[in-house]
Amino acid sequence: MKKLWAICILLLLLAGCAGRDEAPVAEVVPTEAPVTAAPTEVPTALPEQQLTIDVVVTETAVPTPVPTPEPTPTLAPTDTPEPTPTPGPLEGFVIGLDPGHQRIYDPSQEPVAPGSRETKQKVAGGCRGVKSGVYEYEVNLNVGLLLRDMLEEAGATVVMTHDTLDVNISNIERAQMFNEANVDLGIRLHCNNGGSEKKYSGAFMIVPTENRTRFYEENVRAAATILAAYCEETGLTTRYKDGITYRSDQTGFNWCERPIINIEMGHLSNPAEDALLSDPAFQVKMARGLFNGIVRFFRPDLGSAVNE
Ligand SMILES: [Zn+2]
Repeated sequence: MKKLWAICILLLLLAGCAGRDEAPVAEVVPTEAPVTAAPTEVPTALPEQQLTIDVVVTETAVPTPVPTPEPTPTLAPTDTPEPTPTPGPLEGFVIGLDPGHQRIYDPSQEPVAPGSRETKQKVAGGCRGVKSGVYEYEVNLNVGLLLRDMLEEAGATVVMTHDTLDVNISNIERAQMFNEANVDLGIRLHCNNGGSEKKYSGAFMIVPTENRTRFYEENVRAAATILAAYCEETGLTTRYKDGITYRSDQTGFNWCERPIINIEMGHLSNPAEDALLSDPAFQVKMARGLFNGIVRFFRPDLGSAVNE
């Protein structure tokens, strides 16, 4: 034990000597290393070349949108466009046609005028071709149907009292049909019978007397215009001085509140005219003549010497 203690003391002594030999600590001031500022993190600008490359890269990356080509419009089927229909010369006009008579006449009576005590049979029988035996109602209806087609083709609205012979329509009813349709002109179609006298011939017009209509002037003008065109087309002459007669006793006139005329298209009692009036080809001419006259009457602006 004593030995151990001795060693310890010896060591302590040795340690004291060594400490005295060392340089004073205060003098060993460590040279302060210059404070190096922490490098500011300035983003290092990329070299230009790098930028360029970047742009190029970007451009390459985003694909340039290729414009979608406009779809080629499918061509419409080469249908010829519908031409705008030109309005016919009679567009807007309402024309009444009353082919005279019917297959079976009606002898029962009706007043010849509103409020009149005088009566006439509702539908007379009409006459017949002296040679051909054709019934007047057949000729009247044939011409009426042909004329209707021509008028409609020209744009007119046509009101026919009947388009078949198997009807029973009185003269008052026929006039009332024209009133209801508010016709611009009503035309009654007949052929005449000169009685046993075969010498009478020619076409003529009948119009209501002045006291029976509000449209006297208009009726006379329509009658003159249409008769002239009719004779021009058919070559028929006119009966009477100017081809117009005036009647106050016709039921079909007196009940009509619209402009109205009656044409006697020729004489079935005259053999020569009977041959013409009963001929279907001539009936087309008759209808054509009436049509021309109607156009001239309603459309004098289209020009015609016939109106003079
Ligand atoms: Zn008749």
